[in-house]
Amino acid sequence: MMRRRAFLGAGAAAGLLLSGCDLSLRDGVLNKCIAELPPELRNDARLREAWKGLDAAKVWDTHVHVFGDGDSGSGLWFNPRMNNLWNPQEYLRRKIYINASCIDDRPGKIDLSFGANLLAQARGMQPGFKAMLFAFDWARDEAGAPVQEMSTYYASDEYMAKKAAEHPAHFEWVASIHPYDPRALDRLDAAVAAGARAIKWLPTAQNIDPASPRLDRYYAKLVGLNLPLITHAGDEQAVVGFGEHLGNPLRLRRPLEAGVRVIVAHCASLGHGEELDPAGSGGKPSNFDLFVRLMDEPRYGRLLFGDISAVVQSNRIGVLDTLLSRRDWQARLLNGSDYPLPGVVPLIDLHKLVSRGLLDAGMVEPLRALRHSNVLLFDFVLKRNLSLKGQRFANQVFETAPFFAR
Ligand SMILES: [Zn+2]
Repeated sequence: MMRRRAFLGAGAAAGLLLSGCDLSLRDGVLNKCIAELPPELRNDARLREAWKGLDAAKVWDTHVHVFGDGDSGSGLWFNPRMNNLWNPQEYLRRKIYINASCIDDRPGKIDLSFGANLLAQARGMQPGFKAMLFAFDWARDEAGAPVQEMSTYYASDEYMAKKAAEHPAHFEWVASIHPYDPRALDRLDAAVAAGARAIKWLPTAQNIDPASPRLDRYYAKLVGLNLPLITHAGDEQAVVGFGEHLGNPLRLRRPLEAGVRVIVAHCASLGHGEELDPAGSGGKPSNFDLFVRLMDEPRYGRLLFGDISAVVQSNRIGVLDTLLSRRDWQARLLNGSDYPLPGVVPLIDLHKLVSRGLLDAGMVEPLRALRHSNVLLFDFVLKRNLSLKGQRFANQVFETAPFFAR
C-alpha cells in the first residue's frame, strides 16, 4: 500500500529514532497492511474466545488517535517539518505512523485512506463495539494562542464530531480543548452539545500545566458538565514537547481535588517525576509509582482512573504485573488501544510477553498475523489474553461504555 522501498532502509535506524522506545525487530519492521483477515483466522476459536463474557455493545476502545494531512479538506494537519527529509527523526516518525495506520501516502489519499482503514477495522470487531476518536488541539502559548511550529499535529473537535455522526454505530468522539484558549469554556459547552464523551489533553505536547490555579474554572466546568478528562501522564516520547515535568502525575491533584474524573493515559507508565508532595519520599520516583500513590488514596477512589493503552509496548510492560494483580483496581482501569501505535510492529514484542509469563506461547502466531490486518482487534485480543498466574484483566476493564454514559 505505501511506497515500501523508500522506507525499508529506515528499519535499522528506527531504534534510534523512536528514542527511548524498546524495539524488537524480531517480527520485522513494517506493517504489511493486509486489508482482509487471513482465512485461517476468520473462524479461529481463539478470536471468538476473546469476546466471551463481554457485552460487545459496552466495549469501547477509549484511546484512538486520528490524523491526516488535510488533503480531503478535513482541516487535519501534520507539522510540515515531518515531511522534511532534512529532519530525519520527524520524517521517519511520520512514516512509521503512516505505515501503522496503513495510509495511502499519495497526495489526496491520506485523510480518506486513514478514515477508511479505521472504519474497516472497527467493522471487523463484534457488532456494538465502538472506537473513541480523539481530537487534538494545538499546542498553545501562555495566552492561549496556537503555536503551530510547536504542534505535531492537529485534529479539530468539529471533524471528530462529524466522523462520529457519520458512523454512529462505530465511533464516539472525544474533544481536545486547551484550557488556555480564551474560548475554552464556551468550547466545552459546544463539545457536549455535539456529543463529546470526554476531553483529551497531552500536557507535555500541548503546553498545559494541570496544577495551575488558572485552570480552576475549567475544572469546575468539567465537573458541572460531568465530562471526564483523559490526560497523558508520565514521559511522552511520541511527540515534540514542552517538558516532561508537565506530565508528572502529582500535578493531577489539582483537578482531582476539584472533583474532576481523571483518566490517566497509559497509567503514567514511563519516566520519573519530581517529588512534589511535601510528605513524599524524596528523590525521583517513577511516574508509575506516583500514579500508584494517587490510586491508593481513598479520596480519589471514585475520581481517578487509568487507561491501559500502550502498556503492552516493550518499554512499558514493567507495569503489567501490578495492573493485573491489583484486583481492587479493575473497576478503575479502562481499555484503549492507542491506535495506530499497536500497528507499529517493533513496539510490541509478543515473545517478550511470553517469556515474562504474561502470554501463552500459542497466541503468538495468531496475534502476529492479526496485527497486519486489524490493529484494533490485535490489541484487544492481546489484552484479553494477558494473564499473570491465571489472573486476567477483568471484563469490566473492556466494558468501558458505562463510564462515559451521559
Ligand atoms: Zn495516545
